[in-house]
Amino acid sequence: MKKLHSEKDTEIEIPREENCGTCKGSGAKPGTKVENCSHCHGTGQLNVEQNTAFGRIVNRRACHHCQGTGKIIPNKCSTCGGDGKVQKRKKIQVKVPAGIDDGQQLRVTGQGEPGINGGPAGDLYVVFHVRSHEFFERDGDDIYCEMPVTFAQAALGDEIEVPTLHGKVKLKIPAGTQTSTRFRLKGKGVPNVRGYGQGDQHVVVLVVTPKKLTEKQKDLLREFSEISGQGVDEQDDGFFSKVKRAFKDR
Ligand SMILES: [Zn+2]
Ligand SMILES: [Zn+2]
Repeated sequence: MKKLHSEKDTEIEIPREENCGTCKGSGAKPGTKVENCSHCHGTGQLNVEQNTAFGRIVNRRACHHCQGTGKIIPNKCSTCGGDGKVQKRKKIQVKVPAGIDDGQQLRVTGQGEPGINGGPAGDLYVVFHVRSHEFFERDGDDIYCEMPVTFAQAALGDEIEVPTLHGKVKLKIPAGTQTSTRFRLKGKGVPNVRGYGQGDQHVVVLVVTPKKLTEKQKDLLREFSEISGQGVDEQDDGFFSKVKRAFKDR
């Protein structure tokens, strides 16, 4: 994921059929010839006659002497065994475009399988699978992440460092930030694969309640709770007031 912000060269290995170098793809031992099949006269097909209850039926079938190719190779090439093709693993360089997403494909001209009878090679299509990341989540060109902050940071405000695809970025958390508040880091997402600008990174701030507290911390929180016992309602006309009104209604 981190590699997505810039175009990158990568080497991939692909299995590929290539014309046999020994026989130049003919399948015949060098110096010998490929002959027409005498059973099907080079057509590759045989007529098979059958007498059935409905009368005589003529079926055309692939010639089993030449496997339907119409050709017989009396002296087979020892390198490819008469196939004319050999399996090779080939390493090719592929440019991974910045911003490529899962399932998108890239065409590499002329790197596909060779054509029939020495024709030009086809194109290779590389389909990308983007591995998911434990911290970043991607939605189109936008990136989402969750950042934990302490209750004190959320209440007093702070500046936190957020990892992005473009390096660390400072984010100001205003005093009184509620959990699940979303902040936007403009232009810190994925570059559009077609070159239409750049996505944003959305940071969801999660206020984490501490699980382990020392006696001193507990005492301070008890004191805090005591002091703010009345103050909460006056400061906050939202959530807490709603809860309080719900009790009064009964
Ligand atoms: Zn034949
Ligand atoms: Zn060969």
